[in-house]
Amino acid sequence: MKAQPKASHFIDGEYVEDTTGSVIESLYPATGEVIARLHAATPAIVEKAIAAAKRAQPEWAAMSPTARGRVLKRAAEIMRERNRELSELETLDTGKPIQETIVADPTSGADSFEFFGGVIAAGMNGQYIPLGGDFAYTKRVPLGVCVGIGAWNYPQQIACWKGAPALAAGNAMVFKPSENTPLGALKIAEILIEAGLPKGLYNVIQGDRTTGPLLVNHPDVAKVSLTGSVPTGRKVASAAAGQLKHVTMELGGKSPLIVFDDADIDSAIGGAMLGNFYSTGQVCSNGTRVFVQRKVKDQFLSRLKERTEKITIGEPMDEATQMGPLISFDQRQKVLSYIDKGKAEGATVLTGGGIPNDVTGEGYYIQPTVFADVTDEMTIAREEIFGPVMCVLDFDDEDEVIARANATEFGLSAGVFTADLSRGHRVVDQLEAGTLWINTYNLCPVEIPFGGSKQSGFGRENSLAALEHYSELKTVYVGMGKVEAPY
Ligand code: NAD
Repeated sequence: MKAQPKASHFIDGEYVEDTTGSVIESLYPATGEVIARLHAATPAIVEKAIAAAKRAQPEWAAMSPTARGRVLKRAAEIMRERNRELSELETLDTGKPIQETIVADPTSGADSFEFFGGVIAAGMNGQYIPLGGDFAYTKRVPLGVCVGIGAWNYPQQIACWKGAPALAAGNAMVFKPSENTPLGALKIAEILIEAGLPKGLYNVIQGDRTTGPLLVNHPDVAKVSLTGSVPTGRKVASAAAGQLKHVTMELGGKSPLIVFDDADIDSAIGGAMLGNFYSTGQVCSNGTRVFVQRKVKDQFLSRLKERTEKITIGEPMDEATQMGPLISFDQRQKVLSYIDKGKAEGATVLTGGGIPNDVTGEGYYIQPTVFADVTDEMTIAREEIFGPVMCVLDFDDEDEVIARANATEFGLSAGVFTADLSRGHRVVDQLEAGTLWINTYNLCPVEIPFGGSKQSGFGRENSLAALEHYSELKTVYVGMGKVEAPY
């Protein structure tokens, strides 16, 4: 098998197997071929991982921030040195084209280790609070054992985006990747050990929706950070609330991308295509409701159609391929059923709308699809599809489009294209979302906070803000005089 790891889990610095766990087959989405066979964690494996994390964490937390940071920065260097190998693994794991993974996946994971390794010494200082004669001070302290649960669209990035701030802040992590993409996180765990991370601090266990709750409900777990869908988020958040655990929820979206008639249309089309077709549309922050002001609608649609039909779909390992398959057969069925609903509810298929004829084999390929004449109440305009399906909606004026853009339970992201900078700022100010862009879309460098509002979640990844979500404040009041008691 092409990508069989040494064992299913990585615990306490080494690969661990327990063949009594149910089998997880890792399929290459471009062919459906089994590339690795792993086992889901049994309760004993879950216990082992959490016990290792619990044991290792206090000593790590006691190290100087600079010493912790040095390990993370070394991990970033190793990831960059092995970018090709890690990108190929990510392509096998996800079916995303190597053209993408080589620039966007391990590299953004490495950025995360580099950033948090660098900022940790300066980023977690407390406050001195004078109180007349007395005073107080605060310090940020780690939470303890943190659990990370990942989705399948950016497996290595998610493993790093959760691991880097957690470790930087002095925590230990047990990470469970998606059952669809079990491979990348194991490599991250290996690299961290090679970079000098003490054993037990970053553990990876495999499993599915039945394994997740074993982690979330474990009494020794202080925090859960989930990247996944809104329904899963509701389950995980309510389980965590039962034990008052900290949570970060990075969930789904149906984000608006608004194109005003004064915008640079080619840039707006480029932004809309990147924000709908990158990673075969499997990106949570995608701007899947593209509102185009009526005056430029025809121009927008004709150039969009032309550019979309030139996208090269094919074997992901081929450097020329721009779009690979979806993650799984089931995901393709789900996306196809949304496309059917769009047709049935009266939207116009501008291009795409099915399975491409020119790719052969068992891969889960689908055409990049654009629907025009979409209206707000259509299912394809309301629900997250998580595939390369762009919905184009028309609008006339600013107040109308803001109200329509906000008329959703989601609030992950939003974007505006306009040449009028005051309008750009005025509009984003009124859009209900956690991460917004003006005249670009979907850029998420590690320096900026990323996360959602409304049903798209809470907490933030990346930036200094993430450190706050992996630590808590401790306040110390220092009495400098005698204690005066009335009794
Ligand atoms: P999913 O919700 O099906 O699964 C996510 C993870 O949760 C998987 O590892 C799964 O095994 C685990 N899980 C499922 N049920 C669980 C439970 N009850 N308890 C604990 N863990 C459980 O999501 P998916 O299909 O893997 O990913 C696609 C979704 O993720 C989309 O909705 C997408 O928008 C979202 N996503 C969000 C972000 C973000 O940062 N906001 C990023 C990527 C993906």
